[in-house]
Amino acid sequence: MYAINHAATALLIKKNNPKLPLFPLLVSVQLVEVLWVFFNYMGWEYFSISDGKVHLDFLPYSHSIFSGVAAAILSFCIISWGYKNKKLAIAFAVGVVSHVMIDVIFHEKDVQLSPFSSTPVWGLGIIDRPILNFILEFAYGVFCWWYFKGNRALLWVIIIFNILDLPMMLAHDDALTPFIHYPFLLPSVILFQIFITWYFVYRYAHSKKNISSSASEAI
Ligand SMILES: [Zn+2]
Repeated sequence: MYAINHAATALLIKKNNPKLPLFPLLVSVQLVEVLWVFFNYMGWEYFSISDGKVHLDFLPYSHSIFSGVAAAILSFCIISWGYKNKKLAIAFAVGVVSHVMIDVIFHEKDVQLSPFSSTPVWGLGIIDRPILNFILEFAYGVFCWWYFKGNRALLWVIIIFNILDLPMMLAHDDALTPFIHYPFLLPSVILFQIFITWYFVYRYAHSKKNISSSASEAI
């Protein structure tokens, strides 16, 4: 799943926990992806490109069921004991696990049960059907917005970023060649997407609150 729709998951969690700050929730749903970027930079995980498609060959440290659950438990302990905020700790852990669960639906068969064994491995492979991938991700992003009761600007953020993902979804053949020659490029593009979607979702999810709170202040 692409960055904007992972970020949209934070809206679901926020809606169920309105008093919690949104930014840590945005971090939680992308923690696993940020780890993937870092592990790719370090060469501990890697991807390949063949048949005009990106294949996430090796990502068991960031994206396995075991590591997702372990990262969730670790986050829970740090936030619960370190910051004494059990509600945020639970919500953050849910966000971390959500990432791996959603990726199992969209990824090719590349999400292992644990880093310790290459089997079993899961992935429904929706990513291999770009149009279906686009429709499902788009519908999910809009659903998250609807559930959150976001404002129109936030809906536009979700629509525009989904459309911006289309060239990447539909890319084939030579379009992906730069990623072969410069392996740091794909993790960097993904990191950039994570940051920019954090910014826009945070900004426009809050602008609604600001409008309503300033309106109530005016009253
Ligand atoms: Zn992922």
